[in-house]
Amino acid sequence: MIVVIKDRANEESIEKLREYVSKFGIKTVSIVGEKTTIYGLVGDTSVLDMDTILSNEAVDRVIKVQEPYKHSNRKFHPEDTVVDVNGVKIGGRQLCVIAGPCSVESREQILKVAQDISKSGARVLRGGAFKPRTSPYSFQGLKAEGLELMQVPRKQLGIPIVSEITNPATLDIFLENVDIIQVGARNMQNFELLKLLGQINKPVLLKRGFSNTIEELLMSAEYIMNGGNGKVILCERGIRTFEHFTRNTLDISAVPALKRLSHLPVIVDPSHSSGINWLVEPLALAAVAAGAAGVMVEVHNCPSCALCDGPQSLSCGEFDSLMGKLKKVAEAVGRRL
Ligand code: PEP
Ligand code: MN
Repeated sequence: MIVVIKDRANEESIEKLREYVSKFGIKTVSIVGEKTTIYGLVGDTSVLDMDTILSNEAVDRVIKVQEPYKHSNRKFHPEDTVVDVNGVKIGGRQLCVIAGPCSVESREQILKVAQDISKSGARVLRGGAFKPRTSPYSFQGLKAEGLELMQVPRKQLGIPIVSEITNPATLDIFLENVDIIQVGARNMQNFELLKLLGQINKPVLLKRGFSNTIEELLMSAEYIMNGGNGKVILCERGIRTFEHFTRNTLDISAVPALKRLSHLPVIVDPSHSSGINWLVEPLALAAVAAGAAGVMVEVHNCPSCALCDGPQSLSCGEFDSLMGKLKKVAEAVGRRL
């Protein structure tokens, strides 16, 4: 429920309203705009007495929010949210391109990829350290050592880094070593993990699960935001469909749909969406044309030697050429790289 406050409402009446709703365990989120101030009420608002609210002197009108997601709802926050990662803004007019290997493999590898992608204009470095692999016999990532190796480019180049968390027990090393914590598709509904990430003050990149709906993705964002962490970046990474030519099917409509429903920035991962190197470029361009705040692309210094996801990885040269094309599409849709 949204309560629109009158222009010159007095503080006393507003306080009375807050007190009344808090008796029912309902939280108030204030959104102070240029023209109006609104209060978003989060919790079971069906127990509230409408007459009590409407008779409050400060209240102009009440709008019911039917959707089950509140904090992430655009009705609660009409402006786009811009997530600031040490000065790198995700969600503004400038696109944010995140690039790097699926997995950190060695000091030389991560440093070389980081140098090349940042020269090409990428603004965040990705690298998996704790890898959630389908097979227990596949490379599982370098774990804490992988995060340590990422500190080399993080410090040398000053580039923020993103890596995936899979286990709540490792939260401390993520807090210390990464700038954005990624929640992967397989953990999108790991609600205990999401609640924990709601308690921190670090951006979270939340990927859509491969069998999850747009509403379920927003409900997962809600778990994080309800804990007090509003720095959530949504990521469409392809969903499972009957089509097996591609690894997943990029749901391009999820980009404008999420942007309509929510104020959170939406990025696209064309690498896991397709699973195929030559499809990454057209999907990345389509994502930007559809309004994505950025893309996250897997890039390797030697894709054929990669320990994980080589077939969908771009070489550093291919990434550089993609950036040139992204720039043109970005400008065509009123954005910049
Ligand atoms: C990844 O980005 O490294 C990853 C494992 O992606 P997803 O969770 O989308 O499969
Ligand atoms: Mn991967």
